Amino acid sequence: MFNPLRFLWKVNSRFKSWDEKDIKKYQRKQIKKLIKHANKKSKFYSTFYSGYDLTNFSNLPFMNKQLFMDNFSQLNTVGLTREECIYHCLEKEQSRDFSEYYKGYLVGMSTGTSGNRGIEFVSKIEAFLMQLLVFFRFPFPKTKKIHLAFILRVFSPGFGHNGVKIRITYVSPLDTIETIVEKLNTLNPNLISGPPSVLQVLARAKKDRSLKVSPLLIISYGEVLSLNVKKTVEKDFNCTVVEVYKSSESFIALPCKDGKLHINEDTTFIEVLDKNNEPVEPGKPGFVVVTDFIKRKTPIIRYKLNDLITIDPEPCFCGSKFRVIKQVHGRADDIILGKKIRNDDLQFILPDFIRRSIISSSEHIEEYNVIQTSPTNLTIKLQLVTNVKEQIKEEIEKTIQQNLVNIFTKHDSEVPNIEFLYVSLKQDFDKKLRRIRRNFEEDFLK
Ligand SMILES: [Zn+2]
Repeated sequence: MFNPLRFLWKVNSRFKSWDEKDIKKYQRKQIKKLIKHANKKSKFYSTFYSGYDLTNFSNLPFMNKQLFMDNFSQLNTVGLTREECIYHCLEKEQSRDFSEYYKGYLVGMSTGTSGNRGIEFVSKIEAFLMQLLVFFRFPFPKTKKIHLAFILRVFSPGFGHNGVKIRITYVSPLDTIETIVEKLNTLNPNLISGPPSVLQVLARAKKDRSLKVSPLLIISYGEVLSLNVKKTVEKDFNCTVVEVYKSSESFIALPCKDGKLHINEDTTFIEVLDKNNEPVEPGKPGFVVVTDFIKRKTPIIRYKLNDLITIDPEPCFCGSKFRVIKQVHGRADDIILGKKIRNDDLQFILPDFIRRSIISSSEHIEEYNVIQTSPTNLTIKLQLVTNVKEQIKEEIEKTIQQNLVNIFTKHDSEVPNIEFLYVSLKQDFDKKLRRIRRNFEEDFLK
């Protein structure tokens, strides 16, 4: 029987007292158990690993989103098919009702920092363990009761929580900024968590006093937090901004009381590798390869993310030997600006709206870029899977067009002219990773 108190004690003692030897020993044991489990329970992994020496972890082949998606039906250990999960996700996108379990699992569509469309899949116990990890390890400010407003594109039913010490309220980022501000003013939380693109806009609302809340701490997640945005948000809110680093595949890192981002070495194994898949020394950036110890229903083993991170060569003052991420060099999409219908003002439209309007339109899209050249002009570059018929292209354009009409109209903005281009989009990881780009600057966003 799972005992949360034991988990609490372990979570804290592991973080505080383990040295590098303890961490390595624990990880080796967990990796061994995980590979055995995957090889036995997942049809995909047993084929994928055939011919490999399972005791030689660093020789095992890499996973990635494409492989994960292509083989989802054989990869998960509970017998769900890829088609039924995608169907469920698309239905949710349409109804925007994210409150239901699917056959007892949390199934959602990820658009996050790691790339094109993916399935996020978590069992109830896995979600519970991740929540406990955050509750017990996160350095919440010392106050009578935490009231956290979580600006989250949630797919977890029952995510909201109202306990003795912590209350969590979910605020959808798919609302307009005005609605988010209004909700926050009503909720009056003492902690706010949201993606930096939202935090940046909220900082502006705080500055012009339409947003009246004064949080003790702000938590950034979901997109890369640049130093500039961190400084602006900290200045306008007059409080500290810390970062958490989570992908659909794993809860990678949490901040400590000193604000440093520590890898959750006891729930995830992170390799930082160069282009030739050789380990990179701390202080230099490398690709993130993740192996997750919590997700047993969809085993995540040597899964390559599109993010790059740099490990801090310096130890943290808090004393924990869990590695510190000095910098996450991931994707940072731009906010799109709409031209309001009633006057010449501009309206913020969060990049997540745009990402979802594209990825939910078709399965044939492999990669995409959106470039906004003016408030009334959008260029959408699409890289499709091979051999797509003209008719499908027309359908994709029509669906994206309709999705964008809905978004801009909802934001009281003129629908822009949309140009579609079909090109090959090669990811350049040495540059800033962005899919949604606005190539004009407005004074208030500087
Ligand atoms: Zn620390």
